[in-house]
Amino acid sequence: MGRIQLKSVTKSFGDIQVIPPLDLTIEDGEFAVFVGPSGCGKSTLLRMIAGLEDLTSGDIEIDGEIATEVPPAQRGLAMVFQSYALYPHMTVRKNIGFPLRMAKMAQAEIDQRVETAAKSLNLMDYLDRKPADLSGGQRQRVAIGRAIVREPAAFLFDEPLSNLDAALRVGMRLEIGELHERLKTTMIYVTHDQVEAMTMANKIVVLRAGVIEQVGSPLELYHKPRNEFVAGFIGSPK
Ligand code: ADP
Ligand code: MG
Repeated sequence: MGRIQLKSVTKSFGDIQVIPPLDLTIEDGEFAVFVGPSGCGKSTLLRMIAGLEDLTSGDIEIDGEIATEVPPAQRGLAMVFQSYALYPHMTVRKNIGFPLRMAKMAQAEIDQRVETAAKSLNLMDYLDRKPADLSGGQRQRVAIGRAIVREPAAFLFDEPLSNLDAALRVGMRLEIGELHERLKTTMIYVTHDQVEAMTMANKIVVLRAGVIEQVGSPLELYHKPRNEFVAGFIGSPK
């Protein structure tokens, strides 16, 4: 399960409305990419879905339940940030298991889930290391592992690869794609990178200044961009 619906969602900071009324449905199992220039509201939207930011008005529903009435930790969503947000004093094993310890899961179950996640992310040899002794790509895998162990209804990624060099980014894109193939869990992936959007998405949501310019598959956007902005952004002539 992992159907996410935004219904007339708005967001203002003070007097400034950064998201005018916005409607959007992400179907269960979709890989949706929010793409648009810096400052267009991608992170704000994702943070509202995650419950890290209040809505000014409107509703968000997750599998038909009004999410805004559910505390962030109980929404069944796992967020992965660009900055990894790992605990430097904890080993990889402890970092990945952290959300499960917080949820007071039995140790045996925690060990098992951490191991499964570590295997799927090629981290088995690094479980006893600290984040400082890992490469950027490995750190990002640990952050993804910490999301996987929770078996969330949806993963929310906020520009997770923008701190990595170009070669590593390509590899991690493939890994995240494979993860989606395997788990078939809803993923919402925020990026300002058109190539990432075009290669990873089932559904691309193009944003400009808090407004959805177009929603469609990569092919639809490429062949039938609705306006100059989408055409320019996605890179095909209109
Ligand atoms: P993106 O992730 O697409 O780069 P953001 O969602 O971070 O964009 O920001 C959207 C707009 O909201 C920007 O104009 C930004 O300056 C503004 N904004 C974001 N967070 C805050 C905040 N906490 N207070 C005031 N303005 C904010
Ligand atoms: Mg952002």
